[in-house]
Amino acid sequence: MIESQGSAIPRVLVLGGTTEASRLAQALADAQVDAIFSYAGRTESPLPQPLPVRVGGFGGMDGLRTWLREQRISHVVDATHPFAAQMSRNAVDACAATGIPLLALERPAWQSQVGDHWQQVPDIASAAQALPKAPSRIFLAIGRQHVEPFLARSPHWFLLRLVDASLALPPERGHIVLARGPFTVANDTALLQQHRITHIVAKNSGGSGAESKLHAARALGLPVILIDRPAIPPRPTVARVEQVLQWIAGPHGNTGVATERGV
Ligand code: NAP
Repeated sequence: MIESQGSAIPRVLVLGGTTEASRLAQALADAQVDAIFSYAGRTESPLPQPLPVRVGGFGGMDGLRTWLREQRISHVVDATHPFAAQMSRNAVDACAATGIPLLALERPAWQSQVGDHWQQVPDIASAAQALPKAPSRIFLAIGRQHVEPFLARSPHWFLLRLVDASLALPPERGHIVLARGPFTVANDTALLQQHRITHIVAKNSGGSGAESKLHAARALGLPVILIDRPAIPPRPTVARVEQVLQWIAGPHGNTGVATERGV
């Protein structure tokens, strides 16, 4: 069991929804840390976790602040997706307001390599505007949210990959594949070829689970419109689960392993 130096036994909130969050949940359960795992509730069948799970929003920054106090949380780990910016901002604000230490567990962004044909854009709207003029076959690898700006007034055919059938597309507009990562380069290459994809739109999520589409695009010489991560206020950030465990075990705010995001 982990005991936090100089304070009571820790009680941790994990803001989840990523592979990294699930890995952290397992590590916390293995270390017998008292922790609660939080899902937004976006998917119909979220992965089970080896920790107590709560589902749904907290009610903004104020709701989170109240919830943290009521639950006597001692540490918050933001292991949400790098594009879950609202949740991350709320966590920064609520932790600042309550004095509860916050650590982000975040995968480094993908970097382009020789052979990539990336057009990096700042946000969803810019990605939609960057689509070619001529009718094309687009792998829209951005999840379910925010597909509307791409579909609206668009001459293109779209391939979507979703974790559940929460969206429908008429066949002339595209096709939906139901799948949950991690994905492989061989399967993604076959998927791109099978659907005669000409362009890919993706978020710069980082990590290994969704990177295979970029390797496949490189091998096939396909252009990728890659959306940059949204801005999040600076917060202590680590990339590995073991660093989170060290932080929980160590004195608050003095982990020796955390780095400031973007600094
Ligand atoms: P978001 O825009 O930052 O969050 C919107 C609101 O959803 C938040 O203000 C919060 O509601 C609630 N929320 C988000 N994450 C939550 C969590 N882990 N626990 C409880 N409430 C949460 O987030 P999003 O982009 O919709 O992402 C939602 C979830 O999907 C996150 O868990 C994220 O890790 C996961 N995910 C997102 C993406 C992506 O591309 N955005 C990809 C893969 C997985 P309240 O204000 O009411 O508290």
